[in-house]
Amino acid sequence: MILMHCRNRCIAQQYNQGQNSRSHMMQLWWRLAPITTIAVLPNVRQCCHFLRSAEDARSIRQAVNDVLEAAAEPSTTVEERRRLLHFVVVGAGPAGCEIAAELHDFLKEDARRLFPRALLEDVQVTIVQSGATVLNSFQKRIAEYATEKFQRDGVRLLLNCRVVDVMPNELTVMDKHTQEKQALAFGVCIWTTGIAMRPLVRRIAERIGTHIQSNRYALVVNHHLGVVGDTHRALYAAGDCSTIRTVDTHASADRLFQIADVDQDGRIHLYEFLRFVRVIRDEYPQLVEFASILEPQFHEGQSSISRKEFEEWLALVDAHSTALPPTAQVAFQQGQYLGRLLNTRFRCWPATFDELEEGLYPPFEWRNLGAAAYIGGNTSVMELPFLDPLHGQFVFWLWYGYSLLHLFSWRSRFLVMVDFIKTHIVGRDISKF
Ligand SMILES: Cc1cc2nc3c(=O)[nH]c(=O)nc-3n(C[C@H](O)[C@H](O)[C@H](O)COP(=O)(O)OP(=O)(O)OC[C@H]3O[C@@H](n4cnc5c(N)ncnc54)[C@H](O)[C@@H]3O)c2cc1C
Repeated sequence: MILMHCRNRCIAQQYNQGQNSRSHMMQLWWRLAPITTIAVLPNVRQCCHFLRSAEDARSIRQAVNDVLEAAAEPSTTVEERRRLLHFVVVGAGPAGCEIAAELHDFLKEDARRLFPRALLEDVQVTIVQSGATVLNSFQKRIAEYATEKFQRDGVRLLLNCRVVDVMPNELTVMDKHTQEKQALAFGVCIWTTGIAMRPLVRRIAERIGTHIQSNRYALVVNHHLGVVGDTHRALYAAGDCSTIRTVDTHASADRLFQIADVDQDGRIHLYEFLRFVRVIRDEYPQLVEFASILEPQFHEGQSSISRKEFEEWLALVDAHSTALPPTAQVAFQQGQYLGRLLNTRFRCWPATFDELEEGLYPPFEWRNLGAAAYIGGNTSVMELPFLDPLHGQFVFWLWYGYSLLHLFSWRSRFLVMVDFIKTHIVGRDISKF
């Protein structure tokens, strides 16, 4: 991994400079996460903090310390103090909710020990969300639970509100229903919504051609994670900087029906359907995942399905085939998959890419292991496949334990654990360095 990472830099340079050379290695493997949005509104980069890297985390910590100290100055007016102590988080996805929850915990548990109580009465954490709920990628019950928890904790939620203007120390927010605008003066604003390509990833997309690489946020890859349009068949992309191309199946309904209807009687029988799924799996892997929806119909009194039922099924598949979520879970599974694929490729040398990808190696399939988010006060929400949503403090411990186990080394596990225990005993460290 590290070797690839180091070499990536020099090959990346060659790629940038137009020498699409194969160089020392046969393929590149990109895992450069996109950066947070800057393009949506002017001034966002200058006036808000992002939440992407350790640098960002450090600058947020510094900013929070600075506003608390400035608010504690005797010369600070009440109005200015209220502004300084207003923490705004834009976006209520998992990252936005988690940072709002962490901020709330910090202000409630740690800042209270260090700053005058009267000062902290002016503290306000606000989440601005353009959707109707927080955590809208989770199930409705989880979103409701998180909303109630935030409201109980005094975290203000501005739902259905879009940020329309960003100025130093002030956001203008518009209610999407009433079109009413309001100004939110802030001390610290954390922008967690939207993503954009890193410059290097954008250059690769441009070099391939934006008519092929038309996604604005990530490199489009095929189901073997090969970058679409790379004529050398030498580039792979995994993780946040990539998105798997999903082909619209409904648009090809005619062709797909012809492939499925082997006896050409205008209906699809079970044996035809099973064969169809096998034949089509490389081109449309998403159909395999959804085959189980249609299969029971063959056993419920009817031995075949009509063309209309077949098309309805394709429409359902298209509606539910979204890009994979940009999470560590997906990146990790893709990394493991690519490791195996590249090893197979070297073992099968001189098999070509096409031979390998079409015949020897199965396409990438994501195994959804569930998702979790921290919502403050040692409470987390979690959804797992095939189970009802979970929430509460035990979920936090479950999630924390799982995350700890998945760190790469015992050294990291030990350091994180010590940090966690230290925080619980003596509070968070707010010293500046
Ligand atoms: C605040 C926050 C909370 C999150 N919480 C969760 C969570 O709870 N669970 C979860 O599953 N996911 C979570 N995610 C998402 C998860 O972090 C990402 O999906 C995951 O890290 C993506 O992995 P990656 O390898 O694609 O990118 P990254 O982990 O970002 O790695 C990309 C690497 O490429 C390096 N790089 C960039 N440019 C270059 C260059 N030109 N040359 C060489 N190297 C370069 C970067 O420095 C970086 O080290 C969270 C993300 C954020 C921002």
